[in-house]
Amino acid sequence: MRAYVALGANLGDAQAAVTGALAALDGLPQTRLAARSSLYRSAPVDAGGPDFINAVAAIDTALAPLELLDELQRLELAAGRERPYRNAPRTLDLDLLLYGEARIDEPRLVVPHPRMHERAFVLLPLEEIAAGRVTAAQLEAVAGQAIQRL
Ligand code: AMP
Repeated sequence: MRAYVALGANLGDAQAAVTGALAALDGLPQTRLAARSSLYRSAPVDAGGPDFINAVAAIDTALAPLELLDELQRLELAAGRERPYRNAPRTLDLDLLLYGEARIDEPRLVVPHPRMHERAFVLLPLEEIAAGRVTAAQLEAVAGQAIQRL
């Protein structure tokens, strides 16, 4: 199944965290990295701390959605993420944006990710590697958000 994962980091060497996570996605069981966007720099939204480094990855995986979420959360923990409070700065945040055409609404997992269309730091990198999954109207709606392609 083709799935899309958003990566973000804003603590420590955020660029290294995102680049390392892209490689780690390729190393997940039954999974390979199919494409990766450029890196982007964005100001924090509803969060403190320094700017975020963001990217989106396309993966081809045989993992089921919740198995994939388990693996993503394992990678977040391995990157040393601590969650002292909601939206605290984090070393690595991995969100499952899309899983094929699946629509999932479970306590642990909602797909498509419910806030992906509000965020330039998701839509711009996603548009780079999956143009058909982002509309011009969606891009227009986030055009005012500060984001820089690196
Ligand atoms: P956050 O702190 O924003 O990374 O949110 C993490 C929480 O969101 C976890 O408890 C996940 O179970 C839940 N969650 C729900 N849907 C998703 C999704 N599509 N991708 C990642 N986490 C999700």
